Amino acid sequence: MYPGTFDYHRPQTLKEAVELLESSRGNARILAGGMSLIPMLKSRIVSIPALVDIGKIDELKKVETGKDHLIIGSMVTDHDIEESRTVGEMFPLITEVSRWIGDPQVRNRGTMGGSLCHADPSGDWGACFLALRGKALVTGPKGTRKIDSDSFFSGPFSTSMNESEILTGIEFNQIDGMNGHAYEKIERKAGDFATVGVAVQISIDEKGKCTYAGIGLTSVSSSPIRAAEAEKEILGKPVTMKSIESSARIASEHCDPSDDPLRGSAEFKRYLVGICTKRALIRAVKEAGGVI
Ligand SMILES: Cc1cc2nc3c(=O)[nH]c(=O)nc-3n(C[C@H](O)[C@H](O)[C@H](O)COP(=O)(O)OP(=O)(O)OC[C@H]3O[C@@H](n4cnc5c(N)ncnc54)[C@H](O)[C@@H]3O)c2cc1C
Repeated sequence: MYPGTFDYHRPQTLKEAVELLESSRGNARILAGGMSLIPMLKSRIVSIPALVDIGKIDELKKVETGKDHLIIGSMVTDHDIEESRTVGEMFPLITEVSRWIGDPQVRNRGTMGGSLCHADPSGDWGACFLALRGKALVTGPKGTRKIDSDSFFSGPFSTSMNESEILTGIEFNQIDGMNGHAYEKIERKAGDFATVGVAVQISIDEKGKCTYAGIGLTSVSSSPIRAAEAEKEILGKPVTMKSIESSARIASEHCDPSDDPLRGSAEFKRYLVGICTKRALIRAVKEAGGVI
């Protein structure tokens, strides 16, 4: 199908893009990679009077590092994230997750920024963003602000950004200690959205005590969620197989999957959360040098 008609704007600067959004009074939408928005327009799930294509704004296409943090510009594609040595060295979890997004065609255009703003309950980036406690860097008519990952998603396909704001980048702060990571995704077929996805980031000290635990789940609630209760089960003490199994059980109890005809029952997904969390924790703890 063809989309309905819309005005098309291609600003050269962030300021211009914000002004366009503000003056449209809620009638314009940002176009990033278009991998979610264009199919929705073509199938007429949405009809939008104006698109603001931010593909010409170079400042949004950078990967920047500071002493203890990484910022991925909102227009950096999944492919460029996958290929970035800087990203891989600082946050290998991000690199691992990037390889699970759709297929090479999707990754060539799709962006982490677009995926987070789209807030699909099954998006892979959401789980990673939550596990690493990322921050969304947002600019609007009133200036800039940072939104913690814990308060970013506000429901299915919605975020706490307002309609005149643009996500400019995603910030990740370095995690001290010996680190390990893993992303476990179950999908029906290669390139599919997750039936269940579990992102884990762990840090342990020299004595084997867990000093950081991040567990993000996708496809098991109305938006990607952090398994905070499961994190508490392993944090602040040496990680053992018993605490891993207990943490995995808590993650499966605290999520809220729904039955769906394509990917299975809620009960099945809960079971998978337990399996994937256990696998991801074991892999992450071993990588961090922990003995379990
Ligand atoms: C065949 C196929 C397979 C896929 N498989 C997967 C998968 O396995 N896992 C997965 O997680 N995703 C998957 N996706 C989705 C893909 O990751 C999309 O790229 C992503 O959801 C949207 O990113 P985008 O850059 O294309 O954003 P767009 O489609 O351009 O935008 C999406 C939404 O976000 C808004 N937006 C975008 N950028 C900004 C910004 N900077 N500031 C404010 N608002 C913004 C737009 O207005 C729009 O509402 C798949 C998509 C396709 C077509």
